[in-house]
Amino acid sequence: MSSNVRVRFAPSPTGHLHIGGARSALFNYLFARNQGGKFILRIEDTDQARNVEQAKEKLLDSLKWLGMDWDESIDIGGEYGPYSSMERVDIYKEYVQTLLDEGKAYYCYMTSEELEAERAAQLARGEAPKYSGRDRDLTPEQRQAYENKGLKPVVRFRVPQGQVVKIEDSVRGDVSFETDGIGDFVISRTDGVPMYNFAVVIDDYLMKISHVIRAEEHLSNTPRQALVFEAFGWTKPRFAHASLILNPDRQKMSKRDESIIQFVEQYQELGYLPEALVNFLALLGWSPVGEEEIFTLDELSEQFSLERVSKAPAVFDTDKLAWMNNQYIQAAPLEKVIDLALPHLIKAGRLEEDLDETRKEWAGKLIGMYQEQLHYGAEIVELTELFFKQEIEYNEEAKAVLNEEQVPEVLNHFVSELDSLEDFSAPQIKAAIKATQKATGHKGKKLFMPIRVAATGQTHGPELPDTIELLGKATISARLSQAASLNG
Ligand code: GLU
Repeated sequence: MSSNVRVRFAPSPTGHLHIGGARSALFNYLFARNQGGKFILRIEDTDQARNVEQAKEKLLDSLKWLGMDWDESIDIGGEYGPYSSMERVDIYKEYVQTLLDEGKAYYCYMTSEELEAERAAQLARGEAPKYSGRDRDLTPEQRQAYENKGLKPVVRFRVPQGQVVKIEDSVRGDVSFETDGIGDFVISRTDGVPMYNFAVVIDDYLMKISHVIRAEEHLSNTPRQALVFEAFGWTKPRFAHASLILNPDRQKMSKRDESIIQFVEQYQELGYLPEALVNFLALLGWSPVGEEEIFTLDELSEQFSLERVSKAPAVFDTDKLAWMNNQYIQAAPLEKVIDLALPHLIKAGRLEEDLDETRKEWAGKLIGMYQEQLHYGAEIVELTELFFKQEIEYNEEAKAVLNEEQVPEVLNHFVSELDSLEDFSAPQIKAAIKATQKATGHKGKKLFMPIRVAATGQTHGPELPDTIELLGKATISARLSQAASLNG
């Protein structure tokens, strides 16, 4: 299918890939794949003060980890490159010059102190702050006078007054802005490096971007960008502003918000599966037809449409993400779950780095036992704590179980059954429980609970015989005797 759809994800390299950015990237990716179009990755790095070393590489790594690939970008090039703004400064300069020549832009010599004073005065008068237009119509002599003082000008865009800018937005419908509310904005800094609102338009035009899909926080930039498109007489792309993402408390997310993990790399480090994170992000503001919630990236690409992107804020439900990741962990081959969880046991010092075969097999079984329950790799550390300590403390609930009358009899008998096992394996342990039932006459909860609690300190957990096998004979005998002696 050949298509004119060309979309882009255009992050600024200011840090790790944020979940909001990842969602924007994903919507663009899915739309491109759905339409048989192109997905372009462009780095917008003209705000040099905010650029962070290595951020580009990290952004690309995180996108790759999530399973997205792109058709054009800084790493693979493409027909419309270069793909980072700082390499395009000469291109922007030409377009700035065109607007200057046509009187659609002008030099402004106001200093930051003057601008600040102007702003303060407007605020004091109860007005919304906006550039006053002082330098809109400088004569060549006035310009020269400023130059003689050594002042370096910025270039401002001459915003036509008394007009309405209309933006067609696939998510929001038509959105209109009155130009009177928009001050003449800076398009090029004193050093000739353009501002985002200008560069983005030049790039979107030259790269033949058909749809601009991004987050709602960019909606307020859009009229400025639309005005630049109009100044050049270019057709605007179709816009689609996806909703805000709120934190679990339904508040606007801020980068400092600690109630939520915000960067893709952190999820990777915690042992989330990229398939699950992508699935979850897709549902943040887009909804499929029907009830199904679990989708592969290909399935998402097949189903995605801008019509089903919602303008209502999406809530980042961390429990739902954990649930979804668990669904993927349950469905994954054990090897994959081991890869996800084992490094965390090592990092926590529970297991040594170079495990011998026996220990590796033991660790594999241990992780396998928790596969159903595990929400993310790092969680294995707390889930398996009882396997790595000598003594366990019994909480009140556990003590209440162990204080029941039948407990010493059950435990002591079970210990002697275990002692006589030839092979300390789950099936034999299961048989030993059965034998204990026969010999003591206790069954059901009265039989299983004390054994489970004595062995693990917990009233719930994975299959009991498997748990006991992995705890090993020495540990289990010590724990059972300890528990039996607590009784009374
Ligand atoms: N560079 C902008 C950002 O990182 C992207 C703006 C856009 O998509 O137009 O927020």
